[in-house]
Amino acid sequence: MTAGVVIIGAGQAGANAAMALRRQGHAGPIVLVGDEAHAPYERPPLSKEALLQPDQAKLALYTPEQFAEQRIALKLGVRATAIDSQASTVTLANGEVLVYDKLLLAIGAQPRRLPMLDALGDRAHALRTVEDAQRIKAQAQVGKRAILVGAGVIGLELASSLTDLGLQVDVVDPARRAMLRNAPELIGRFLQDTHEARDVRFHFGTGVRAAERSGDQVSLTLENGTQLQGDLLVYGIGVSVDDTLAKAAGLRTEQGAIVVDEHCRTSQPHIYAAGDAVLQIDADGQRRRIESWENANLQATAAVCGMLGQSLLAYPVPWFWTDQCGYNVQFAGDMAAPQWLLRGEPGRAPFVAFGLDDGAIVGAVTVNAGKDMRPAKELIARRARVDQATLCDPGIALRQLAKAS
Ligand SMILES: Cc1cc2nc3c(=O)[nH]c(=O)nc-3n(C[C@H](O)[C@H](O)[C@H](O)COP(=O)(O)OP(=O)(O)OC[C@H]3O[C@@H](n4cnc5c(N)ncnc54)[C@H](O)[C@@H]3O)c2cc1C
Repeated sequence: MTAGVVIIGAGQAGANAAMALRRQGHAGPIVLVGDEAHAPYERPPLSKEALLQPDQAKLALYTPEQFAEQRIALKLGVRATAIDSQASTVTLANGEVLVYDKLLLAIGAQPRRLPMLDALGDRAHALRTVEDAQRIKAQAQVGKRAILVGAGVIGLELASSLTDLGLQVDVVDPARRAMLRNAPELIGRFLQDTHEARDVRFHFGTGVRAAERSGDQVSLTLENGTQLQGDLLVYGIGVSVDDTLAKAAGLRTEQGAIVVDEHCRTSQPHIYAAGDAVLQIDADGQRRRIESWENANLQATAAVCGMLGQSLLAYPVPWFWTDQCGYNVQFAGDMAAPQWLLRGEPGRAPFVAFGLDDGAIVGAVTVNAGKDMRPAKELIARRARVDQATLCDPGIALRQLAKAS
């Protein structure tokens, strides 16, 4: 057995790390192990195109030819079950043992489960995999009713896709508003208004007290007494990381997440981790726990730099996006900024919201204004201070402001 790099988890971070290893000069063996039967694919389309236009949805991260050209060995449909950090080996569920010089854990996360809803059987879903999307799509027929539990990004994207498909949608969330965890109030309000204009009904400030199934129907009793009926139910209430493998290998974890430094090094030599499974704590103590497409890609590159002893570029301002009801909404920086200003008219896209902390720009959200995201990120990176009337004047190009400030 020739040692090389073994990557556990053939998703966004794992596949991109494999490609980055070659790009950045690693010549030795690379083995990419994934427990899903599919070649590595992207998850963002699962709540969007995969439901709306499944035949046209582009999911694959790379073609089989690209993996072959880069001499990346794929071991799919098999789970890594143990790591021996002393012997530098990974054992797979089929009994195979892989030897590594460097190991990357890119194992992602799983939807947090609600046993009360899982007990509803095949009419209740969480959404993480291609199979989940296919099951939801099969039940999402015109005129049916869907209940969505969770008004976060996935819940709202599903509300958008399912109403596009002609379903009546109810959304339940114990929080007081949409996207409480990762969007400022004015954007949460804008998205709620947008969905309500499409007849989506929100039930905020109340959880699920009881769930029942009768034939193909599900019914929920909410804590506030409301009764909801649906033909299908999807819940998206956050994710958790399965830390069994990491813990058994002696890696430091916190609330399930694998703790890494800025080079994505874990607490064990030669073992790295990246993506949704990771809590990153920088040398200056800054903590980053980000579940996004961009973060998976950035940490994949950081881990590769760490493995190859190459210097690391600074992490950019964190960014993610969502697509809902014809709006492309992009988020950068701190969504918990204490003050928010609007550039443009609320509810009339395109517009941009800026988050300020003590006068410094620390966050931004663009709505159908993707071209403004780059200068917005520059302003955030510099914690720029711009006269508020100027910042809010859509007549003055943001590019100019970013250059001038
Ligand atoms: C429906 C949906 C929509 C999304 N939309 C957006 C969006 O619009 N914008 C955005 O920024 N982000 C979005 N995301 C988030 C983004 O897709 C994730 O942050 C990203 O996929 C994380 O990459 P990862 O490599 O850490 O994990 P994953 O892509 O989940 O890959 C991890 C892989 O490891 C496998 N694995 C786990 N344990 C083992 C093991 N022991 N052995 C072998 N394999 C194992 C898993 O099965 C999985 O295939 C979305 C996610 C979902 C689910």
